[in-house]
Amino acid sequence: MVDITTSAVPDAGALAGTGIRIDGLSKTFATGRGKSVTALQDTHLHTDKGSFLALLGPSGCGKSTILRILADLEAPTSGEIRVDGKTPHELRAASELGIAFQDHALLPWRSVAANIRLPFEVAGRRPDQGYIDELIALVGLTGFEKAKPATLSGGMRQRVSIARALALKPSVLLLDEPFGALDDMTRQNLNLELLRIWTEKPATTLLVTHGISEAIFLSDQVAVMSPRPGRIKEIIDVDLPRPRTPEMQRTPEFHALVDEASELLFGSSGKAAAEA
Ligand code: ADP
Ligand code: MG
Repeated sequence: MVDITTSAVPDAGALAGTGIRIDGLSKTFATGRGKSVTALQDTHLHTDKGSFLALLGPSGCGKSTILRILADLEAPTSGEIRVDGKTPHELRAASELGIAFQDHALLPWRSVAANIRLPFEVAGRRPDQGYIDELIALVGLTGFEKAKPATLSGGMRQRVSIARALALKPSVLLLDEPFGALDDMTRQNLNLELLRIWTEKPATTLLVTHGISEAIFLSDQVAVMSPRPGRIKEIIDVDLPRPRTPEMQRTPEFHALVDEASELLFGSSGKAAAEA
């Protein structure tokens, strides 16, 4: 017999397990001679499916460790991690993860198109050339399909790596300072691109950054972390409307959110905030 209450009515319970669910996550690295580093201690983080979350915090507070655990590249010491109800291992096995790092990690001997095709080959899937072309257009690289990474600018290489991360239509996008090595202008432009891409191809997204403005501008929520041991200090809900526009960065609402994040990061002096 069909249970109407669960099959026909979308109930809150069915949605409760979606998005990022990190509970009691700890990670200790052995560093030799019986010593160890506690990178994360008892970390909790919950987001909604399809939402954009930024992890914001100083260097060494465990941002990349969280991302690497979600990406199934690192095992937790303890704790529970699920995204949309799946473990990192299950997500990876199902090719549901799209990952891009600060270092673009493109294969230098392959063209733009061949780099974006790579995830299909790794997953043993037939490359979808039409979709690859669509992604190349989406990241603004039409005409550069045959170019090798060495002939591209840093910003263009990062666009290729974002396109590659999207190749298998992942439901979860993990971005570790993807534009961190670029100059401010390029970074601003690519953040706008990222926003447009994310709007067109929605995925549950986690962006690691140490840029306060960019975290607020892009995200639904900003998790501010503190170091030694790494912890989530507070979650800021960014209630700015979407679509976000560059002009919003000049509104009092935006500045209030930046101040709130700065205060959490640096204390009320705001001394270091100006440098961020
Ligand atoms: P973030 O990305 O916020 O800069 P990380 O997650 O890279 O910080 O690192 C958090 C802490 O864990 C740091 O103290 C770092 O030195 C340590 N750490 C990260 N990876 C390793 C590792 N493989 N071995 C030992 N220590 C590590
Ligand atoms: Mg890092």
